[in-house]
Amino acid sequence: MRITEVETLKLRYVMDVPMADAVHYMPERNLLLVQVHTDEGHVGLGECAAYGGTLDSMEAVVLGDLRPTLLGEDPFTVERLWSKMAWRSHQRGHRGMLPMAISGVDIALWDIIGQATKTPLYRLLGAYRDTLDAYASAGFYAGNKGVAEVAEEFAGYAARGFRFGKMKVGRNPDVMTNPLHDMWASDYALCSLDEDVERVKAVRRAVGPGFKLAIDVNNAWTPAVTLRFMRQVDDQDIFWLEEPVPTDDVAGSAEIAHVLDVPVAGYESETGLGGFRDLIERKAVDIVQPDVIWTGGITECKKVAALAHAHRLPVIPHVFSSAVAAIANMHFIASIPNGGLLEFDQNPNPLRSELFEEPIEVGSDGRVPLPERPGLGVMLNQATVDRYRVETDPTPV
Ligand SMILES: [Mg+2]
Repeated sequence: MRITEVETLKLRYVMDVPMADAVHYMPERNLLLVQVHTDEGHVGLGECAAYGGTLDSMEAVVLGDLRPTLLGEDPFTVERLWSKMAWRSHQRGHRGMLPMAISGVDIALWDIIGQATKTPLYRLLGAYRDTLDAYASAGFYAGNKGVAEVAEEFAGYAARGFRFGKMKVGRNPDVMTNPLHDMWASDYALCSLDEDVERVKAVRRAVGPGFKLAIDVNNAWTPAVTLRFMRQVDDQDIFWLEEPVPTDDVAGSAEIAHVLDVPVAGYESETGLGGFRDLIERKAVDIVQPDVIWTGGITECKKVAALAHAHRLPVIPHVFSSAVAAIANMHFIASIPNGGLLEFDQNPNPLRSELFEEPIEVGSDGRVPLPERPGLGVMLNQATVDRYRVETDPTPV
């Protein structure tokens, strides 16, 4: 079997109300899909994380730098192709855009292998489990959302059967070194550190004591700010603390992880096996959070998971894009012994909820089963693709 073509699809959904986390303003949800074709008629599907810039720039890496390496090659040699893609462009840096671009191709290659062997991907990868617990990824900032609204939002997730959830904190202009000050729309939906304490307490009251509630800082704080904040929510039973400091402050994250008994989780914005090796070996994280569309595909994430397992650490991947990102991460999570929890974005996004012929649904028990069809086991809904497809994406927000 040979690879005959590599194509991309760019999709955009413009939100009715923009949302934000600690530092990122999100007026729209954009995604870059990759389709790899073979001479036997298979079409593998993948997605490249395209955060932090335009879809056009990420597409240029896939089609310009990676495609020539793939054409005419055997898709089953995914490990070798991964290495070729990484090394032939290694001067551009082994973190960031290159692993993001390789991720989409790698997922598509694994989809082809699953289709060709008529095997669901999670089974091909080892099938530790066939059902995942979903956690409600939510509690974003928005211009129309205050303390009462975010509490009401979480009461709704608990009522729908979710037993796990995560809310945003950190959009604090009163934190002097917050990267927020340099970001797009840095005056949108702001919140003081003290108001964030109130948001967390209000959400805890709304969901009750049994609910596992995590908080996500998206790199906004320093170790000192983090420790002060965590003292103020010490009685709120925080399930984990995500990305408290900038990703390259490995020493700062390690200091926090050493002092707190709340697990430190991260770092979605790290990429590649080497980046996660540094986080794990320097004890900067208690929970490891790669993402198959961002870290370097399924091939790289399996290695990150094995490294985490060797250090007795759980893996709870970052999952925050389209339905393709969700299904690809689901197969990965189901295949590893040290995982089982799926991040499930609760913000309105038809590129997650309407992209497949059969949408991914969370049951009333808060659980999601893996599909039993070959490969990723999904088909794109052509009407949704046609509706949200864009030819170019020149704007970086
Ligand atoms: Mg996060």
